[in-house]
Amino acid sequence: MSDGYNFQQLKAEILSRSRAIDWETAKSEWYLVGISEAETPETCLCSHFPIIELCTIANRLTNIHVDVGNVCVKRFLGFRSDLIFASIKRIRADITKSVGADATVLFHERGIINAWEYGFQQSTMKKRNLTAKQLETRVTINRKILASIKRRGIQ
Ligand SMILES: [Zn+2]
Repeated sequence: MSDGYNFQQLKAEILSRSRAIDWETAKSEWYLVGISEAETPETCLCSHFPIIELCTIANRLTNIHVDVGNVCVKRFLGFRSDLIFASIKRIRADITKSVGADATVLFHERGIINAWEYGFQQSTMKKRNLTAKQLETRVTINRKILASIKRRGIQ
């Protein structure tokens, strides 16, 4: 494998920060804390460089936090952070577009969008022809999401 993502190294780095000594158990000690965008390119725990889209993960037992890239977080936690970042890019390019389902769930879970907005997202996500009022609501939601990312991620 020479795709620049060294899974063996990722495993070793994660294991050294976990309490468990076997990989399968160690994996379940970790969860996603938040996502952010690096101002200057960073290096993933697997040694891949550069990464701009960062996923901060933490260990429930050791409370150690580390940043990894999209590819590793998907391999490691099965979490599709790439879809969240794709949503962010989409609304940054056009504020009248909608974020996808994965982003909607994550930003609601983190309290960026409230329960009502979460429901609104579900009923209007696929719609292209929104009323003026609906469009205004979508833009408000999008601005909140973008503002949370600017602050270097949702924590
Ligand atoms: Zn990596």
